[in-house]
Amino acid sequence: MLDLIIVGGGPAGLNAALYAARAGLDAILFEKMFAGGQMVTTTTFENYIGFPNGVGAVDLALNMEEQAKNAGAKILYDEIVEIDLGEKIKKVKTANEEYEAKTVILCMGAAPRMLGVDGEERLRGNGVSYCATCDGAFFKNKTVAVIGGGDTALEDALFLSRYCQKVYLIHRRDSFRGAKVLSDKVAITENVELVLDSVVEKIDGADTVESILVKNVKSGESKNLSVDGVFVAVGIEANIGLVENQVKLNGGYIDAGEDTKTSIAGVFAAGDIRIKPLRQVITAAADGAVAVYSAQKYLDTEF
Ligand code: NAP
Repeated sequence: MLDLIIVGGGPAGLNAALYAARAGLDAILFEKMFAGGQMVTTTTFENYIGFPNGVGAVDLALNMEEQAKNAGAKILYDEIVEIDLGEKIKKVKTANEEYEAKTVILCMGAAPRMLGVDGEERLRGNGVSYCATCDGAFFKNKTVAVIGGGDTALEDALFLSRYCQKVYLIHRRDSFRGAKVLSDKVAITENVELVLDSVVEKIDGADTVESILVKNVKSGESKNLSVDGVFVAVGIEANIGLVENQVKLNGGYIDAGEDTKTSIAGVFAAGDIRIKPLRQVITAAADGAVAVYSAQKYLDTEF
């Protein structure tokens, strides 16, 4: 029986694995895809302290993984298909194995939210994308639209402006939710055209994206914009599927405070999956450390 199972290998999970190894806990981190999770869908971090010139997202993720492994962390690249948190001893299943643990840290993160308009699902992968850094290079010298007004949309617009001939940044309001440093950069980027107070109502195209129907929410006027690609950046949804009927949720996120404790004793939630005011790599990583601290205290008193 393990002391701890960590579910998810983003910054929260990797830092939890590092702290767990250093605390001498018998722990396994499970990650279904690759180290870093969502963080590697961006290019560079300029707001992760310690890197005066910024740090590449993939480099940072691989360094986190290496540091955790160097400390003795055990990381398995396998998908968890079922989690049973019903008893004091928690059970976690992959396709071929069942594991038992005294504590679990849930750090499955979040995934991009869909826009929910006509044509989005049909043209997904054929011009509709949720990851500018993954797919941006396919749109060299083309015209694309980025939809959203948060950090992701602003970063995507800046990233795509380097490849694309033109980038429309379409946002439903006239001010951005994302960081001012980013919106200031966007404002002075010549090939980014702001389309504010506007929503996309339809994505059109026979086999690939050809145009979008955009409505100005103030004037009520609609227009068609010819684009080759649409990058949807309208926020994220927590990956709660494995536990949604077991732990208490709050607005689609796991209800856990700064101590990362969930509604179930011995189960902790760290990073983007839990309710929190600021979802960034640094806050996710910090959660991972706190979650191990909370788990250790629980192990000391309950086992
Ligand atoms: P976000 O901050 O939730 O922003 C989502 C944006 O999409 C908002 O501007 C929102 O508009 C808009 N939106 C939501 N639903 C929409 C809809 N149905 N139609 C049109 N627009 C819609 O999401 P995010 O940008 O993905 O960021 C998620 C988290 O990751 C944030 O905490 C962010 O700070 C963090 N992040 C950090 C970095 C970084 O620090 N380098 C980079 C990327 C993301 P309203 O503003 O009108 O609500």
